[in-house]
Amino acid sequence: MPARTIPLYLLHPAPVEQHAKIISQRDLGEGRFAFVADRTVFYPASGGQPSDVGTVRTKDGSAEAAVERVTFACDAVEHLASSIRGSFTQEGDIVMSVDRDRRMLHSRLHSAGELLCSAVRKLGHDWHVSGASHYPQQSRIVYDVALLEDQRQRLHDDLNVEVDRLLRQNDQVRIAEVTDRAEATRLIGFVPDYVPAGEPVRIVFISDGLGRPCCGTHVEETREIGRIVIRKIRSKKNQTSISYDITP
Ligand SMILES: [Zn+2]
Repeated sequence: MPARTIPLYLLHPAPVEQHAKIISQRDLGEGRFAFVADRTVFYPASGGQPSDVGTVRTKDGSAEAAVERVTFACDAVEHLASSIRGSFTQEGDIVMSVDRDRRMLHSRLHSAGELLCSAVRKLGHDWHVSGASHYPQQSRIVYDVALLEDQRQRLHDDLNVEVDRLLRQNDQVRIAEVTDRAEATRLIGFVPDYVPAGEPVRIVFISDGLGRPCCGTHVEETREIGRIVIRKIRSKKNQTSISYDITP
């Protein structure tokens, strides 16, 4: 196994097509196989964002496979693929293509979630985010706070107004990588203690001077998100979950 796959999906905007070289692969039977390449444009399922899907083909076009799921294998990124035709060889030059529509949907949902966090903060709440999902039909941000029913209703009303106001601004989405801990803390507003020391903290800024630690893919400007619909705000055991969806 290689030490590292270069994570091209962390570039902003994240590319959807790129040449790469296969550095290891294993046969899973019935035309299915797993491979690691020296670099990848495929987003591995993590941080509440689903895996990219797409296709991979040899540079000479002799083989093609569907990439069905992408996961982390230590510092490498492993692609689970299903052969369409031909076969792939070790050290082979390949062309990776991410399904653009799926990627765009995932980026819109993730950017919507981060914009929602900005809206909550702009309403004056400095609650801590304890969880997030940006999966289609399951998107939500979870805060470490318990709210009463009338507080949830007021938050729902206020958020609708604030989210629409932020979307109308059509802000650029900005991403920074910061290694200095003090600087990262200043930019985020808290200490991101789950990022190993010495590793850069990737910070996304969406419609807010304060950023959020994030390893997702994002739209370039918030107009691309479309509309954000706050579906439900629920409180349970000192946690409040804000579920949301997006429309074109
Ligand atoms: Zn994020």
